Amino acid sequence: MAFEGLAERLQGTIQKIKGKGKVSEQDVKEMMREVRFALIEADVNLKVVKEFVKKVSERAVGVDVMQSLTPGQQVIKIVQDELTELMGGEQSPIKFNTKPPTVIMMVGLQGAGKTTTTGKLANILRKKYNRKPLLVAADVYRPAAVQQLQTLGKQLSLPVFALGTDVSPVEIARQAIELAKEEHHDVVIIDTAGRLHIDEDLMQELKDIRALKEPDEVFLVVDAMTGQDAVNVAESFNEAVGITGVVLTKLDGDTRGGAALSIRSVTQKPIKFVGMGEKMDALEPFHPERMASRILG
Ligand code: GDP
Repeated sequence: MAFEGLAERLQGTIQKIKGKGKVSEQDVKEMMREVRFALIEADVNLKVVKEFVKKVSERAVGVDVMQSLTPGQQVIKIVQDELTELMGGEQSPIKFNTKPPTVIMMVGLQGAGKTTTTGKLANILRKKYNRKPLLVAADVYRPAAVQQLQTLGKQLSLPVFALGTDVSPVEIARQAIELAKEEHHDVVIIDTAGRLHIDEDLMQELKDIRALKEPDEVFLVVDAMTGQDAVNVAESFNEAVGITGVVLTKLDGDTRGGAALSIRSVTQKPIKFVGMGEKMDALEPFHPERMASRILG
């Protein structure tokens, strides 16, 4: 489970400082040394670790006796607040267009979980937001991606727009948006092509789809288990095509949490959802505060 390693690593340090009725500068220093090691071990971006440690240290050194919390508890609360802030503070909701259809583009590298997440997202949109989504199979390069989305659509009883693999993704997206208008689908989710690595063609194609109708959301799907690679991928996509949010998949298998802790700070873009398994109901909104609590146990 996510952050297992980090939580375990921090247990001792937290217990030690929690009970303290007085917290000296030395105590803070010692704790932050442990926190720094733990974050680095969790594969958090080094610059992010440095800034985080600096912020917490500055605030923690000043703590005094308050009515309800011991100084030790206050220090823990500061760490928790700053971890929450690091992951974006508030939960970031989906942005819907006031004039339907809302267009959501799913982008990412092959294998990150893009097609699966497209299905999961449609499922949430229907169940929790009462929307009528249309799924669009525009990943024409990965063998079987189109079929995979059609299978998911069947499983979820949701319509999938597909034109095979010989039509260009831009044309597929264009026709799908037209159809959505005609048939009153209020959300269009476009599963765009993923490649094995970031290249010019991929980025150009995404830009071309973007140009059809400005999407309301561009969700980058990245695999949490790839750690700092996921952060680099997010930076590249954001620079090249512009993303509005991140879906972090496979958090169920990521014991470290480095990507979850670094992406927001590095890209300034929020993590909107996290994938917690392969099933269609295993997508959850990302709650920074809950994640921070999980880390601190
Ligand atoms: P795409 O190439 O990006 O479209 O990737 P797929 O959607 O085909 O997913 C690749 C693999 O990752 C599949 O076996 C999925 O079942 C799996 N997968 C996707 N999301 C998650 C997740 O959140 N957790 C786990 N454990 N597996 C996932």
